[in-house]
Amino acid sequence: MKLRHGKPLGLMIALLGWLSTVAAQEPAMALVGGRWFDGERFVATTKFVEAGRFVARRPTGPVTEIDLRGRWVVPPYGEAHNHWLESDPVAVDAYVQHYLTRGVFYVKDQGTAPVVRQPITARLNRPDTVDYLAANQGFTGPGAHPLQIVRQMQAVGCLPAEWGMEHIDGEVVMIVRNLEELQARWQRLLTGKPDFVKVFLLYSEVHAERSGRAAYRFRCGLDPELVPHLVKRARSHGLQVSAHVYSAADFRGAVAAGVNQIAHMPGVGFDAELGIEHFVLTAEDAAAAAAAGVSVITTIGAAIEDDSEPERDDYVAKVLKPNVEVLRHAGVKLLIGSDMMRRTTDVEAMWLHRLGLFSNLQLLRAWCIDTPRDAFPDRDIARFTPGAEASFLVLEGDPLAKWSNTGAITLRVKQGRILLPREVPFPILQPR
Ligand SMILES: [Zn+2]
Repeated sequence: MKLRHGKPLGLMIALLGWLSTVAAQEPAMALVGGRWFDGERFVATTKFVEAGRFVARRPTGPVTEIDLRGRWVVPPYGEAHNHWLESDPVAVDAYVQHYLTRGVFYVKDQGTAPVVRQPITARLNRPDTVDYLAANQGFTGPGAHPLQIVRQMQAVGCLPAEWGMEHIDGEVVMIVRNLEELQARWQRLLTGKPDFVKVFLLYSEVHAERSGRAAYRFRCGLDPELVPHLVKRARSHGLQVSAHVYSAADFRGAVAAGVNQIAHMPGVGFDAELGIEHFVLTAEDAAAAAAAGVSVITTIGAAIEDDSEPERDDYVAKVLKPNVEVLRHAGVKLLIGSDMMRRTTDVEAMWLHRLGLFSNLQLLRAWCIDTPRDAFPDRDIARFTPGAEASFLVLEGDPLAKWSNTGAITLRVKQGRILLPREVPFPILQPR
């Protein structure tokens, strides 16, 4: 982009930075020559911004005019499933810069510990950083997923190494065997002020056989019969519930129990011992999710990159593709989430594109409209109409014509403020 009066962009940015410091309010902007994504197509038009929001008319008073020179403008991207498990300030800065650089402004953390979350919240949810919400401690069973991940986090110093199970249960995850334990852990969860509730279901159809057996350590989750009780408590506190699922039975049970969100596409977490038919959704499953307004997060890239998954082409063709298609056909909202530590949804979207699971239009809409709005449903975001937050990315090329243009970001604006992220390296994780 270029300024109308020929001032170099660097000068304009310096000026904007100065203005925002002095005035504590973003300067008004006129954005000319851009093509703006409306969820279907790019529309050439002029947009105006004042006090961090789009406005219908050119603001009175000084206006900074930016010529977008025919470039493509999209809402910032979202990340529906990740875990920011590091509270070290250097790591937090690395997360923020990594996400902002890739245009990912909205993050839903599907499970963390208050001890990790509390120190980082002051650095998030402001105009110059990432907007973040989190489930805090997820509910699972004894010896179940994700306790192996908790142990890994301890091993690299992200959680206190001296913590035994009596700390982990309550501080990091909620381990629950029955209703009494559920009630006690529920009260504990509330003290950490979660934004939503996470429950771990794994292979519900064989939960009773597997639970407590060493051979299935970490390959089981919460007793599926407890999920409706958890949903009831969450609802009474106005909290949504997100369910980790692996099998079709997990999905079915979670939807029937009244959860709001499914955190993985069934088939992610494939278990060869059960066979493919345990992972394929039916049209009835998809219809039930659609009728209840349940959204489903993809997290497919992580499964594809994981060598333990079965023969990739077969797995994609017989499990993942049919599941994506049956959900889409039923009208279920598909959200983009990566579940990749220290990475984000640019990688997930690349995989969804490469595997041919989404068209460019479907993928763009899910990534920059549906995913951000799911995370922050009460905010006016992911559109460019008067009153909406003035947050957007300017792309060098048309992402509907060539997917890699989603990464060719030449300008990032959040709530009327130009962001200039600079990637910084993540600290090296040291096994102790
Ligand atoms: Zn996860």
